[in-house]
Amino acid sequence: MTSEFDLIARCFARPAPDGMLGVGDDCALFAVPHGKHVATSTDLLLAGRHFFPDVDPHALGHKSLAVNLSDLAAMGAQPIGCLLGLALPSVDLPWVEAFARGFHALCDAHGCPLIGGDTTRAADGHVAISVTVFGAVDPQHALKRSGARVGDDIWVSGTLGAADAAYRLLSGQWDQDNALLAACRPALERPEPQVALGMALAPIAHAAIDISDGLLQDLGHILAASQVGATLHETDLPVDDSLAALPAVQVRGCVLGGGDVYQLCVTADPADRDRILQSARNIGVRITRVGSIVSQRGLRVLDAAGQPIGDLPGGFDHFAST
Ligand code: ADP
Ligand code: MG
Repeated sequence: MTSEFDLIARCFARPAPDGMLGVGDDCALFAVPHGKHVATSTDLLLAGRHFFPDVDPHALGHKSLAVNLSDLAAMGAQPIGCLLGLALPSVDLPWVEAFARGFHALCDAHGCPLIGGDTTRAADGHVAISVTVFGAVDPQHALKRSGARVGDDIWVSGTLGAADAAYRLLSGQWDQDNALLAACRPALERPEPQVALGMALAPIAHAAIDISDGLLQDLGHILAASQVGATLHETDLPVDDSLAALPAVQVRGCVLGGGDVYQLCVTADPADRDRILQSARNIGVRITRVGSIVSQRGLRVLDAAGQPIGDLPGGFDHFAST
């Protein structure tokens, strides 16, 4: 039988980068660049709630870290390292090895080494995963939710809607469509956190959030924290190509209300449009201007005719009228 210590040694212990103390001691140690603050965030992922229990473990390892790196990205922080808490009902070594490979591959891609964690047997037969990330950010430039100003442009990175479409197909809410699932599944299972973009935009942008619960809901958090409103233009939203054949009402639901996106929603001064486009181009990420911050509270989405959409996905018509 594989012990907890064997499992850690085999799957998770890796030499820490120079200057860091990693897996193997009571705590990890790392330095923070002079003048920077530590940005830290943690996320809990539970089987059956946040992921399908039969999901590919390599993809799950990737996504467990991706959702946390996305929080660092939304703050404009540079990753330093991460911790991994794992509760496992039993030790399925090939499963844990695949999970660890997916996790470490994303660690390597973003310079975010795994420097500690905890591994325990789950009491209830369900896998639980907790990841904590640490990053470094100039406190003057950290992209807080409260920084949006009236007149700001609203930008969205990447595309919207594909992850939600995959979720609806996999959960049986939509009829089986293998071609559509093949096209949109990577967005759900292997989101790419926009770390480089967040860091590049930190000195330029005013506010940012990563879209985990849907554009309307997450932008709503910026609006509440900044005490402003917003107008979005539906025709400007970057709809994922995989949704091209779907009826407009389904596309609208996925794009405005769909979660699990892990793209950034950013607000910035219109004078900085060229800098923002250039930053995204340098990194090779798409970024799209989708609306603006206004003083009138609430969130309005205008359709192609310029009319406010009355019945927004997720019950957001109520929010818009406040
Ligand atoms: P302690 O009893 O001090 O909490 P543990 O025996 O739980 O130590 O863990 C031993 C070492 O292995 C520690 O450095 C811990 O951070 C690390 N570790 C345990 N589980 C994981 C994991 N899933 N991923 C990375 N490191 C881990
Ligand atoms: Mg421990």
